[in-house]
Amino acid sequence: MKILREMVLVLLATVYWVGFSGYQEYTSDSIPTAIAQPVNQYNAKNAGEHATWQLGQTVTVYVDPNATAETQTGVNNAIANWNNAGVVHLQRTDDVNNANIRVINGQLADPHNIVFGLTQTKQTSRQINSALITINDQAIAKYHQRDDMSEQAYTNMVCTHEMGHALGLNHTTPGTNSVMQPGTDRNIQPYDIQRVQMLYRH
Ligand SMILES: [Zn+2]
Repeated sequence: MKILREMVLVLLATVYWVGFSGYQEYTSDSIPTAIAQPVNQYNAKNAGEHATWQLGQTVTVYVDPNATAETQTGVNNAIANWNNAGVVHLQRTDDVNNANIRVINGQLADPHNIVFGLTQTKQTSRQINSALITINDQAIAKYHQRDDMSEQAYTNMVCTHEMGHALGLNHTTPGTNSVMQPGTDRNIQPYDIQRVQMLYRH
């Protein structure tokens, strides 16, 4: 818990430094809503780069019915984007109890409410077992115009970025043309497709 608290402080400092430009994230050990309760022990912000879902597995995605229409559409966009790589099979489900990935709207533990998304995973060293994605619809609604993007396009981008984490991708290094780039203003890129293919073809 001490390490986690220190990580939060470092991330808070990062958020402060980055200010209001671009896409930011934050990590917290609090689980935002009751939907998250059946899946506990989230202990990592992102899946490790070499952890994946079981190869060949259909990964089911549940979206909280109370999530906004933009989030519902954004998750569908994220699923289509990553399935297009041909190495993972994400599929929507209405069955919360058998969902592998759950998506909710919520504010993150961020005093400025400028953090757009968070993905938490439960995993062993090599395998991801479940994930919870929180999409901060309020922050997106408030700030999407800074990047000259519609609220829907911005939500699509955030959902694709977070789903990338849920599949095991970490952030790319600065200057990379990628949806996994912190501060990105673009949806999925050819490089992202290559990365998920490399991750799942081992
Ligand atoms: Zn991220």
